[in-house]
Amino acid sequence: MSKEQKITLIDWPTLLQKLRVELDALDGTDRQWLRDRLDSIAAIQLELDDLFRLVGGLQVCAECDGACCGCGRHHVTLTNLLGYLIAGEDPPSPDFTRTCPYLGKGGCVLPVARRPYNCITFFCEQLEENLSEEKRQQLCFMDQQLRREYQALAERYPAASLRGIWIALERIGDGEILSTKQ
Ligand code: SF4
Ligand code: SF4
Repeated sequence: MSKEQKITLIDWPTLLQKLRVELDALDGTDRQWLRDRLDSIAAIQLELDDLFRLVGGLQVCAECDGACCGCGRHHVTLTNLLGYLIAGEDPPSPDFTRTCPYLGKGGCVLPVARRPYNCITFFCEQLEENLSEEKRQQLCFMDQQLRREYQALAERYPAASLRGIWIALERIGDGEILSTKQ
């Protein structure tokens, strides 16, 4: 069976239920640590989006018809799903018939604050050309800040690796997703 076929066999409601149970089992300190990381990630991502809009990203990407989302199949991480679950919300169901399972008809179905690191930090050549030197440095600084937060999560919970949730799930099998072991 190919990797893509295995991925489409993931039972989404079962996966979400498993994650909810594991989240509920975290003690108060761990839960607060996770909430703080996720809040920080959301805040940095909103700032990055301000920069993206400032350089005309909305219009440029609409004209390009979201070409880079054709490479996004493995960008979503456990961290992005936890952003929903810790707020008591359900992440949208992935659609594996699309090039990226979160690419809807009108673009990405994930809100800015819960979009993957690889997507939110990607300013293609065309967008980069619109950045002043000061804004380029700002982008670099925010990228590093954001990466540190994602890495902190991945260090505590290896399934939150930046390689993406679908790859992590293949490795874990039936094991605990919020496990602190490698
Ligand atoms: S970031 Fe660049 S490649 Fe991606 S959709 Fe926007 S313009 Fe196109
Ligand atoms: S998660 Fe969203 S922004 Fe990232 S590749 Fe998929 S559709 Fe594009």
